[in-house]
Amino acid sequence: MKFQYLGTAAAEGMPAVFCNCEVCATARERGGKNFRTRSQSIINDELLMDFPPDSMMHFHMHGIRGDKIKYIVFTHSHSDHYYATDLLRHGGCYAHNMAEETLGIVCSEQLWERMQKDLAGAKKDVILEYHVAKPFESMTLGEYELIPFPARHSGDSEGKLALFYALKYQGKTILYAHDTGFFFEEVFDYIKEKGLYFDMVSLDCTNAHLLSKPTGSHMGLNHNAEVLEKLREMGAVDEKTVCYVNHFSHNGNPLHDELSESAAKIGFNVSYDGLTLEI
Ligand SMILES: [Zn+2]
Ligand SMILES: [Zn+2]
Ligand SMILES: [Zn+2]
Repeated sequence: MKFQYLGTAAAEGMPAVFCNCEVCATARERGGKNFRTRSQSIINDELLMDFPPDSMMHFHMHGIRGDKIKYIVFTHSHSDHYYATDLLRHGGCYAHNMAEETLGIVCSEQLWERMQKDLAGAKKDVILEYHVAKPFESMTLGEYELIPFPARHSGDSEGKLALFYALKYQGKTILYAHDTGFFFEEVFDYIKEKGLYFDMVSLDCTNAHLLSKPTGSHMGLNHNAEVLEKLREMGAVDEKTVCYVNHFSHNGNPLHDELSESAAKIGFNVSYDGLTLEI
């Protein structure tokens, strides 16, 4: 499976929109992998994980044809993951000769409800096919199988459900866990009980060098190491598993080179915008 990180920052981006802290100032000087846009990934050029406000720019920069997107899998409604305004452009006078007229949407019932309101004006032009995502209920989308997990996250301003996912495709499985704090025990139990094995793991690392709290809604390297250790103990990952940390904020001081050094010590690589992997 082809996996590509398109955006690897938290909500404020990096350097952050209006910030001139030392991290952001240094990121501006160094550029390259230190420029991070809002959270998004794409699988096989057709399945998006989340749809932030930087989506169109991601398509432009990486040669992605938006009309070929078959599915968007949403984790939650925070603004770095959900941008309804550009979903309104999927159809009508905004999109012609589309390879895929119907856009498959995977999300919680709460987010689907909100999407209905946000897209109310474009109902006849934008053709969405809804696939309800419920924690621990495996679902099939064409050649993909998805397992939604409950995230330890504030969900959105109304405190609604946030999810993260395991995704299987042609015998390979990835665990894409953004945004979430340390996994709930039920998540570890499910992975163990089902004997899941991950070829790739991508974990929330918003707090990076700062220590994340056990009940916090994001992780730092301390909890990334702990999650990986628990997965290793139950055989869900091994030395062949490709491990990445992702979703960064300037508040955790993670300039790419320095973070790569500390992440390597606990067995992780560091994502960057545009990175493509063959899993
Ligand atoms: Zn986020
Ligand atoms: Zn800053
Ligand atoms: Zn969030």
